[in-house]
Amino acid sequence: MPHSYDPQNIFAKILRGEIPCDRVLETEHSLAFRDIAPQAPSHVLVIPKGAYVSYDHFAAEASDAEIVDFTRTIGRICAAEGLDPAAGGAGYRLVSNCGAHGLQEVPHLHVHVLGGRVLGRMLPEG
Ligand code: AMP
Repeated sequence: MPHSYDPQNIFAKILRGEIPCDRVLETEHSLAFRDIAPQAPSHVLVIPKGAYVSYDHFAAEASDAEIVDFTRTIGRICAAEGLDPAAGGAGYRLVSNCGAHGLQEVPHLHVHVLGGRVLGRMLPEG
């Protein structure tokens, strides 16, 4: 089944400038902004500018340039937020939810960059 993208999702509206965001970094192919309901002292969302629903959609259909840009932007956010252990930070977690079982709320690919506190176990029991 092909991936179907809803251009009315809230991150598409942010990309079109129809609603504001707390922007952290913008590159040619990616945008990083603070989550509106942060779950950690650092909680930044990194999204590609292209119309991709999920990580698997992006991995299958994005250009090499988009993939490199997105990956490096995530790395730059980890460093800019002071989370990189190699630079004295205390670490971080990357999360990308997809679909019903992933409890994805916004159907535009995003990676959550979380840090600034001990984040607990990766998944709750059961
Ligand atoms: P997910 O469950 O992985 O789809 O997460 C969607 C995330 O988007 C949640 O953490 C929301 O708090 C966040 N979010 C929703 N609307 C906005 C917005 N307008 N600006 C920033 N973050 C948002």
